Amino acid sequence: MGRILDGKLIRDQILEELRPRVEALTVSGRQPKLAVVLVGEDPASHVYVKNKILACEKLGIASTKITPPADLSTDDLLGIIQHLNGDASVHGILVQLPLPKQVDAAKALHAIDPAKDVDGFHPVNGGLMLDGAPGPRPCTPSGIMELLRRYNIPIEGRRAVVVGRSGIVGKPMALMLLEANATVTICHSRTANLAEECRRADILVAAIGRAEFLGEDHIRKGAVVIDVGMNRVDGRLTGDVDPEAMARLSDSYTPVPGGVGPLTIAMLMSNTVLAAEKRG
Ligand code: NDP
Repeated sequence: MGRILDGKLIRDQILEELRPRVEALTVSGRQPKLAVVLVGEDPASHVYVKNKILACEKLGIASTKITPPADLSTDDLLGIIQHLNGDASVHGILVQLPLPKQVDAAKALHAIDPAKDVDGFHPVNGGLMLDGAPGPRPCTPSGIMELLRRYNIPIEGRRAVVVGRSGIVGKPMALMLLEANATVTICHSRTANLAEECRRADILVAAIGRAEFLGEDHIRKGAVVIDVGMNRVDGRLTGDVDPEAMARLSDSYTPVPGGVGPLTIAMLMSNTVLAAEKRG
């Protein structure tokens, strides 16, 4: 049976390491502050934002939540972002996705001051990542890198297969694994012979958004399997990988829930603290 990679344990380690840094900033009058913009009433988004704000409170990071109505225009949202860009007390700005259809999400994300872009989605920060230069990285893949590192899972020279090529998970995940000297394959909905590609993986990352889509045909015995998926099926949270096959075949794996999810918030906190420290 594969070993469980415990995302909550690693989250707690990361948060405990951040605590003295938050205290030092606060003592010197620079308490980190995160501003979250939550548009409309999407119930899942409300839960995510609640958890992010709770994490701030537990760590002593200040937070503010701006909740414009679902029918706001792109210009209205740009106005809110500009205001937060200019507010010196705010170190991090997060616009919760998804945004309503009438809002140009790319325009909104590009309007965030790159120095306050704690989600790491701004193209300037994407460019820095491509360059291997320091800058805020997208939270979910950087959390996975922390998990691999803290469990001493070797990456260099190993074959990594990432299923999914979204801008928030798949692509940055592949880049980070590449930066760590893995040999990386990216798969997506047009990939031929997906199972064959996946079976070549020493490290398999599933970021697809389809419940238990990968199974025993996709997992090489002894692989490390990272299941990013968060799918609701009959009110139950399930990942992108069949949990029974993953536990049986893998060397180690992240469960859903309790694997990747907790790390995402920890890295958001980390990016917020870094943004405050960088401001000096
Ligand atoms: P997207 O929908 O943006 O991307 C999904 C990717 O999966 C696409 O690249 C798509 O390919 C690929 N895909 C879809 N169907 C197939 C298929 N049949 N075969 C191979 N590839 C396929 O999703 P996200 O990246 O935003 O999220 C992925 C999952 O991770 C979701 O379950 C999401 O809820 C979860 N998630 C979890 C987080 C956490 O903190 N744990 C954070 C963020 C996301 P193509 O590009 O060709 O369409």
